[in-house]
Amino acid sequence: MPPRNCALCDKARAIVKRPKTGQQICKDCFFHVFETEVHNTITEAQLFKPGDRVAIGASGGKDSTVLAYVMKALNDRYQYGLELFLLSIDEGITGYRDDSLETVKRNQQQYDMPLKILSYDELYGWTMDAIVSQVGKKNNCTFCGVFRRQALDRGAAMLNVDHIVTGHNADDIAETVLMNIMRGDIARLGRCTSICTQGEDTIKRSKPFKYAYEKEIVMYAYFKKLDYFSTECIYSPDAYRGHARVFLKDLEAARPSAIIDIIHSGEAFEIKEEVKATQKIQQTCKRCGYMSSNELCKACSLLEGLERGVPQAAITDRARKKLASEGGASENLRTIPYFQRPGALPPTAIVP
Ligand code: SF4
Ligand code: ZN
Ligand code: ZN
Repeated sequence: MPPRNCALCDKARAIVKRPKTGQQICKDCFFHVFETEVHNTITEAQLFKPGDRVAIGASGGKDSTVLAYVMKALNDRYQYGLELFLLSIDEGITGYRDDSLETVKRNQQQYDMPLKILSYDELYGWTMDAIVSQVGKKNNCTFCGVFRRQALDRGAAMLNVDHIVTGHNADDIAETVLMNIMRGDIARLGRCTSICTQGEDTIKRSKPFKYAYEKEIVMYAYFKKLDYFSTECIYSPDAYRGHARVFLKDLEAARPSAIIDIIHSGEAFEIKEEVKATQKIQQTCKRCGYMSSNELCKACSLLEGLERGVPQAAITDRARKKLASEGGASENLRTIPYFQRPGALPPTAIVP
């Protein structure tokens, strides 16, 4: 068969079959459509305004590496006027996160963005390695998810950013729609397709890759020769999500539009008012000062469980000293909401 021309420019040779549409296109057209779709997602949802300080949640994996690259490219090309940062969370997983953070450090040089790394150990006094040795490999992702969410907020406050963007892609969101249906968690189903979330007092979070297929992200990273880390976490990820993932991949193989269709279905559900969970933040956690709907925030409740029999502060003395040395803490650290603490954004925390 003679080589086929690109279905978009009709000039160069088609070398890619686009996973999302099946179109056969050239490499430059693939870069162009991928980037333009992300740009359209950003502008249609009006995610940013000029002057915003935006942290990219960076793990060193393919999604966040491509996100950092594309955010930088679009910010320059369309003059978004954003100040971009990399924010990484070190969960303390030997043989996994330590290596992937080395990738983020190289990305920091490659993309010329300030980088802040914050660890579970310094915030909570526990690494994931220590947690797994105590609780086993069953609920590890529950701990990790709760801790990461709070750690990202704290890191964002230190960087004084308005907004965190994460590399969640279309496959992740479709998977979450399926999981919420499978679990009957309709309140979450109503929220999980939102491109942007912002609760009271929380930093805005959004997902510019909401409509980007995982396969296209991998393809983009490959053709752009981006430097990313591709090993999976050594602790078994959520098994139930694994079922949703396998199911989704089967559907995608049969009909590639399945991923977008599931997201659109999720968006179109109308959730009854009484089912929508109203996550009211009425108070601050009595141990760490983080916003919470109960006396203790989720992280501190988990920490209390871990520390049962070992009376210890949720934020350890070591963490308190570190924050104090960065100008962020006082004797009453635990009673002052984190975001109101003086000097919560130590400039020294930014790697130049
Ligand atoms: Fe954390 Fe689980 Fe992800 Fe590993 S798979 S990084 S333990 S959430
Ligand atoms: Zn082309
Ligand atoms: Zn707390």
